[in-house]
Amino acid sequence: MIKPISYGRQHISEEDIRAVVEVLQSDYLTQGPKIAEFEKEFAKYVDAKYAIAVSNGTAALHLCAMAMNVQPGQKVITTPLTFAASANCVRYCGGEVDFVDIHPDTYLMDLDKLEGKLKADPAGTYNGIIPVDFAGYPTDVERLRDIAEKYNLWIIQDSCHSPGGFFTDSKGKQQKCGNGVYSDLQVFSFHPVKHIATGEGGMITTNNKNLYDKICLLRTHGITKDPELLIENHGGWYYEMQELGYNYRLTDIQAALGVSQLTNAKEKVGRRNEIAQLYNKAFRDTSIKTPFAGKNILHAYHLYVIQIEDRKGLYEHLRENNIFSQVLYCPVHLQPYYQKLGWRNGDLPVVENYYKHCLALPMFPTLTSEEQDYVIQNVIEFVK
Ligand SMILES: *Cc1c(COP(=O)(O)O)cnc(C)c1O
Repeated sequence: MIKPISYGRQHISEEDIRAVVEVLQSDYLTQGPKIAEFEKEFAKYVDAKYAIAVSNGTAALHLCAMAMNVQPGQKVITTPLTFAASANCVRYCGGEVDFVDIHPDTYLMDLDKLEGKLKADPAGTYNGIIPVDFAGYPTDVERLRDIAEKYNLWIIQDSCHSPGGFFTDSKGKQQKCGNGVYSDLQVFSFHPVKHIATGEGGMITTNNKNLYDKICLLRTHGITKDPELLIENHGGWYYEMQELGYNYRLTDIQAALGVSQLTNAKEKVGRRNEIAQLYNKAFRDTSIKTPFAGKNILHAYHLYVIQIEDRKGLYEHLRENNIFSQVLYCPVHLQPYYQKLGWRNGDLPVVENYYKHCLALPMFPTLTSEEQDYVIQNVIEFVK
């Protein structure tokens, strides 16, 4: 029997291990030089001016919502097809979450529906939008920025699935996910199922110096020792807590792993695209709906999601054969917590229908061609 194949997994090289051991033998396990190095390298990777490393993607979202001053009474729009944290960050700050249904092909927030909702709200009660690059498909943030400008909204882009991806703007320029050109803030996660693994970890990118300074402060208790920012100064020991912040720092151990993982991140996105093309080809003449092929984008393929009539049947058939596919996601608005806030089945029909048929097949750079053939063979066997 073949060994279990999961829908995603990390790859840790000998070099990654060496990088971590080096930090363990150094003077700093946290708050040392590896953090700044990881931030600099990550900013370079996504073409952003500033990057701030944090303890995980959820902390990154929370800090972004704080930086945007989300407060009770404010309303923020996101997509129901995401991990709960994309919506929860608004709730952490006491704000209200509204959802716009997904587009049936791209599975991203439907921008026509978003415009419709905003048009129907002449009082302008919304404050911001949190789009998600679901599965690795880059959001058209150029169009989204136009909408945001018109209705005076900020954008926090959840790019946890899309580091390395890009879309092409109306001038023909490739715009990398996270480059800060159209979104105010962007968020990434380094959980082991994501592209870059640090155990737990996250990153915020931005081109806005004010937001950068604010988030750096909030990441470490709202405390600063920077002489230029201090209100008073009593001497070398002196620090000030200027805002109510958190300890959302990443360790140097994790940052070293992140720096090492970044060295071949681009190649790994390439490998993910190869795997996707092979699946597409294998399923071409079947009833399976394969991921939408967008024009002039680089899909980062965090996930390879198909839709199939008998999803539960296929899920169980694969499980019996040691293939652990996954359903992503149970729509956020139908989670019991959000139902308590008034959301109901039937509110967002496109994502609810998607949820009945979707399945994420194994997709990670070290998936061997033997393993992929085995997955394909089992899927085809089931649909026939
Ligand atoms: C993983 C993920 C997060 C949260 O990241 P963590 O590092 O697990 O806290 C947020 N949004 C999306 C879309 C994610 O996939």
